[in-house]
Amino acid sequence: MGPHHPESPARLRAIDDQLIASGLLPFLQHHDAPLATWEQLARVHTQDYLESVRAASPAQGLAYLDPDTAMNPYTLNAALRAAGAVVLATDLVMERQLENAFCAIRPPGHHAESGRAMGFCVFNNIAVGVAHAIQHHGLSRVAIVDFDVHHGNGTEEIFHDDARVMLCSTFQHPFYPHCGAGSGNDHIINVPLPAGTDGVAFRQAVTGLWLPALENFRPEMLFISAGFDAHFEDDMAMFRLREADYIWVTQQIKAVAEKHARGRIVSALEGGYELHALGRSVVAHIKALSGL
Ligand SMILES: [Zn+2]
Repeated sequence: MGPHHPESPARLRAIDDQLIASGLLPFLQHHDAPLATWEQLARVHTQDYLESVRAASPAQGLAYLDPDTAMNPYTLNAALRAAGAVVLATDLVMERQLENAFCAIRPPGHHAESGRAMGFCVFNNIAVGVAHAIQHHGLSRVAIVDFDVHHGNGTEEIFHDDARVMLCSTFQHPFYPHCGAGSGNDHIINVPLPAGTDGVAFRQAVTGLWLPALENFRPEMLFISAGFDAHFEDDMAMFRLREADYIWVTQQIKAVAEKHARGRIVSALEGGYELHALGRSVVAHIKALSGL
């Protein structure tokens, strides 16, 4: 995104660093991310949009897809691998080679709509994985849980009228991307929360609104849009979550997955920009996912 931008390669290095420091790293299986195919992307993005991203990819310098979303000469490749990671994770979990998976990827995805880049996001990685689970693996009920501090407007736009997909989302409101408060429906469970929301209020929202909806929906697989910018140390927004809240919410999602979905979970990194808090929060999340 250019120098000094918070959505930077240092984010993935901070995650690796904390995975090493925690001692978790040797106990996890690692897979390199393949490039997503055009066919996989076209399940959730329009042909026109995919063509425009390919055409915009610069040979040098930065090309802006929207005021917040720039491409450099390497961005297209990274974005293809980010989406491809979620597809591979979906395959490995569906084939029972993995219990669950966390995709350490960037650029993030949940603001990208079917025909529009937005908010640092080029392809909607989680949506590409969900569409793969439905169309390639034949699932008929898939849930996405999004605890990034921003509303996943792209994910909502893509699945708003698709009742096979439930989206449960908590987000700061009013705040970027300035939508989601009134656009939900029976399978889009949007929970706008005010600036200053702490772990107590977040857990009440999850317990009161997400979990009953998920119980009713009985998903066959769960995906997590795992953004960690709701952490109290992250000044991108004004929520006050801590590592313990990420452990707790991950355990709740795991319990739903174990009851209804044979434990199948694929989690993908979205936001999280305070590098120390990001590294620690991802470790907390992976500890809960793996049970280590
Ligand atoms: Zn975010």
